[in-house]
Amino acid sequence: MINNIETKCLHLDGEDRTANFGAVSYPIFQTATYAHSAVGCSTGYDYSRLQNPTREHLEKVVAQLEGGTSAFALSSGMAAIALLFEIFKPGDHIIADSDLYGGSIRLFDNVSKKNGLEFTSVNCWCDDIERCIKPNTKAIYIETPTNPMMNVTDIAAVSRIAKKHGLLLIVDNTFLSPYFQNPLALGADVVIHSGTKFLGGHNDTLAGFVVTNNREIEEKLLFLIKTVGSGLSPFDSWLILRGIKTLGVRMERAQQNAIEIAKWLSANKHVTRVIYPGLPEHPGYNTMKKQARGFGAMLTFKVESRELALSILKNVRIIRFAESLGGVETLITYPTTQTHADVPSEIREKNGITDTTLRLSVGIENVNDLIADLENAFNGGEDNA
Ligand SMILES: *Cc1c(COP(=O)(O)O)cnc(C)c1O
Repeated sequence: MINNIETKCLHLDGEDRTANFGAVSYPIFQTATYAHSAVGCSTGYDYSRLQNPTREHLEKVVAQLEGGTSAFALSSGMAAIALLFEIFKPGDHIIADSDLYGGSIRLFDNVSKKNGLEFTSVNCWCDDIERCIKPNTKAIYIETPTNPMMNVTDIAAVSRIAKKHGLLLIVDNTFLSPYFQNPLALGADVVIHSGTKFLGGHNDTLAGFVVTNNREIEEKLLFLIKTVGSGLSPFDSWLILRGIKTLGVRMERAQQNAIEIAKWLSANKHVTRVIYPGLPEHPGYNTMKKQARGFGAMLTFKVESRELALSILKNVRIIRFAESLGGVETLITYPTTQTHADVPSEIREKNGITDTTLRLSVGIENVNDLIADLENAFNGGEDNA
């Protein structure tokens, strides 16, 4: 029995240690198909769209990390969310948080709606969710903390509402990773991950996960993954497995850096707001303390002008101006033209995403180098000559 999350990143409970010649690194089964000795005889593997040992090993590791009975590894986070939404039928209604990853909003607005799903968008961290429930409501979809405004929703409280009305609670847990938060243990039914982010951790591989402990959903997903064919490739499964081995040390270091940077930004007179749930003044601080083991490495801040925001993006030298998050390299993002460009501008502004909003995904560099880089970028890059 493995009790602690750091060890779960490296070892699978009950694993046969003599399998695969005792290989310590799980092998990459780079095969599309599997031969049979006779009709009716299968090794349990028929075709890699349905089953692949490397992908299955990764799925077991992620299920163990999230405390789910099963996990499904998909070719990206969006592939995971799109697969999950195939369990709904035309006419079903979903309550979705209003501040979500831009790609999720794009999927709901352009694909799910076309397929007959209805959505109500609410601030799940503060609005009355129960008021939005209709006879055809089937699920509540949240992120916590949200991307990029870092709103924190009480998962257990929303789960009580979901259970009372027979709804599924789906939580995108990408921002904290299973290292810091386990929504299933707090009453969620399904957990989503963009494995591209903290799980992979190296800004080099796309992946996504759906994790559940609901047998009925598991059966549906098993059918869907084989039918739509968006499962993760053997090599990419191996890369994510390798990334997960260091999840614990990466998360700890990145979080430590994020706290230092949040404090530095809070003391900077050109910064008008720092939104990091690890700062005691953040409205979600106490909920985070209750439901998560850490505050993560994502932070959003606002500067005094659009010109300064653009100048920072142009003048960072160690920090890279790029979309994505959760990797060992620190990235700075401009949500308004990048991750949230496809979100209608009135919704973007209502959520507080403006042209002075910047998002940092803090990596594992030496924090003094990161702060010096920010300082130089705030000063218009005068050290860059
Ligand atoms: C990146 C991201 C996704 C989408 O994942 P991809 O791997 O890029 O497809 C979904 N949710 C959140 C919170 C994300 O940050």
